Amino acid sequence: MILFSTIKETRSWLDQVRSDGKTIGFVPTMGALHEGHLNLVRRAKQENDICVGSVFVNPTQFNNKEDLEKYPRNLARDAGMLEENGCDLLFAPEVEEMYPDGGKNLLQLDFGPLGEVMEGKFRPGHFKGVATVVHKLFSITRPSQAYFGKKDYQQLAIIREMVRQMNLPVKIVPCETIREADGLAMSSRNQRLNPHERTLAPLIFQVLNSIRENQHKKPLTELISNGVATIEAHPGFSVEYLEAGHRDTLQPIDSLNFSNDGVLFIAAHLGKVRLIDNLELFS
Ligand code: AMP
Repeated sequence: MILFSTIKETRSWLDQVRSDGKTIGFVPTMGALHEGHLNLVRRAKQENDICVGSVFVNPTQFNNKEDLEKYPRNLARDAGMLEENGCDLLFAPEVEEMYPDGGKNLLQLDFGPLGEVMEGKFRPGHFKGVATVVHKLFSITRPSQAYFGKKDYQQLAIIREMVRQMNLPVKIVPCETIREADGLAMSSRNQRLNPHERTLAPLIFQVLNSIRENQHKKPLTELISNGVATIEAHPGFSVEYLEAGHRDTLQPIDSLNFSNDGVLFIAAHLGKVRLIDNLELFS
């Protein structure tokens, strides 16, 4: 695996790959890699000639300074894991390489209602930062296909919308959420849970499953308020949102008949860590 930190080297290496007629599968990440990321990498390698990964903790998508500062970073470990899983090129730039003007006066994309609910509502500016960096990374790597996890369901919807609106020549490939044995969705932020919090964390996925199982037995509003109460019965565990949204528009669904295209979404704070998860009701 080759490692580049500059846009110039990455572009010229990939120009050669393309002129050899090879396809490129791309996996953007913020590092602190786990099986969720590696699953994307293996799939990208299987479905393309060349797999490109990126590791970049993107400051413009953080609206919480402490979250940005505490975000786990270990490039040497990440590089080893990427190489073992078939990645051919790792692009790992410094902040100055990606934002030479210090991130000022960036072009900003607006996603309308798609970007106003859930993560968009509770993390203002987050998706603008995500769209900016993913657009830059697509323009640097020019992949045939790019791989994203359903763990970040709204992010996936935003990226798809960006690709559609800007006619970007890349196919977005959604991949299933990878979980720990107890159901907790893998996340780089899980490392920051203390042992007690780690035992509590799977509750959010249990609550989503219980709502799904009971969806035809009780009103959704009741299931949701019971779910919130179950989680918040534990000190230090608080729900930011728990709602059902449409699989494509992500707009709230409140009727009982939502199982054809509904997805449950949750964000919760556990100690100092913010966890998100989701569960499709139609699969
Ligand atoms: P991140 O490094 O958290 O920005 O994530 C990089 C990519 O990995 C995104 O497409 C995420 O959706 C995906 N990802 C993160 N965690 C998981 C997981 N547990 N299962 C599947 N994909 C994941």
